[in-house]
Amino acid sequence: MQTTKGYAATAATAPLTPFSFDRRDPREDDVAIDIKYCGICHSDIHQARNEWGGSTFPMVPGHEIAGVVTAVGGKVTKFKVGDRVGIGCFVDSCGHCAECKRGLQQYCGKGLVFTYNSKEKDGEPTMGGYSDKIVAKQDYILRLPDNLPLEGCAPLLCAGITLYSPLKHWNAGPGKRVAILGLGGLGHMGVKIAHAMGAEVTVLSQTLRKQADAKRLGAHHFYATSDPETFKKLGRHFDLLINTVSAELDWNLYLNLLNVDGTMVVLGVPDKPVPAVNAGSLLFGRKSLAGSIIGGIPETQEMLDFCGKHNLPSDIEVIPIQKVNEAYERVLKSDVRYRFVIDMASLGS
Ligand code: NAP
Ligand code: ZN
Repeated sequence: MQTTKGYAATAATAPLTPFSFDRRDPREDDVAIDIKYCGICHSDIHQARNEWGGSTFPMVPGHEIAGVVTAVGGKVTKFKVGDRVGIGCFVDSCGHCAECKRGLQQYCGKGLVFTYNSKEKDGEPTMGGYSDKIVAKQDYILRLPDNLPLEGCAPLLCAGITLYSPLKHWNAGPGKRVAILGLGGLGHMGVKIAHAMGAEVTVLSQTLRKQADAKRLGAHHFYATSDPETFKKLGRHFDLLINTVSAELDWNLYLNLLNVDGTMVVLGVPDKPVPAVNAGSLLFGRKSLAGSIIGGIPETQEMLDFCGKHNLPSDIEVIPIQKVNEAYERVLKSDVRYRFVIDMASLGS
């Protein structure tokens, strides 16, 4: 067992506080990692506050993990000590079902083990990346691009893949008009990646405050959703609209912005039901309403290589772990440019 230092939520209403726990010693196909940085995803807040139900405590959140390999088990062939590696939202899956075989482990219906707030196959609770080390199976570990800083890579492990996967699946590219709704952690990676894929990118944000940033990130157009004119101007405009918002928006308004055969992909997870979707919002224009979560291991590696090739680290604000509760409040106020990343050196030795 290895004593691990981190921060945990001990209850849904409690702030995160220092917490020590044990990690297993590496088994034959395990890799031990010193965590250097971990991003703060809005899903961490949802789960630490039990907004989706079923949270278990104490909870060490964090699934945007970037670090360096410190030890490998006897049967590990993919990694060696010193490698720069990442872990995203899951650390195991059944490995046998049709989805696992296709490399779509995120849709494994039998045994997906999330990086935290979940249970390993042996029943041990999983603990996430707001901590100084982690041990995981080699098949669920990613290689980070050499040309990007570790801290800029961390958010790619969730925000990056969560946007890359639907953008690729729904063919974002030259000649396609793509809207990114919500310019937060997910949204800013969506802008960068959709731009690099060659799409015409529009940001839909609550206000005009983030307009200059959006242009710098690669957006061609920017509109405020607080302005009713936006919905008049952009009717039947987009081929693909990626919705990263967790608030209970009226999706009908956004379906109206799709062109014929357009798709709105829901990524944000509202904790309450959204207003009913009218059949007419879909019928008139043969539109699709879809959802997507993260991505499988092969596609996550492909995304990391793509971000390396196109030089697309996340835009981050690095914080010491002692500021994690403050950072949560700022995320909730949409006051993040564009991902908080915890520097694990702040845990001390
Ligand atoms: P985030 O950094 O907080 O970004 C969300 C953005 O949504 C905000 O920056 C804001 O952008 C916009 N927004 C916030 N409140 C709003 C409101 N009341 N009305 C309209 N827009 C609002 O969060 P994130 O980390 O990107 O995560 C977003 C959501 O995706 C969360 O629900 C998270 O749990 C979920 N998620 C899903 C997946 C998946 O696999 N599907 C993966 C990770 C996260 P503007 O300021 O530009 O309006
Ligand atoms: Zn996440």
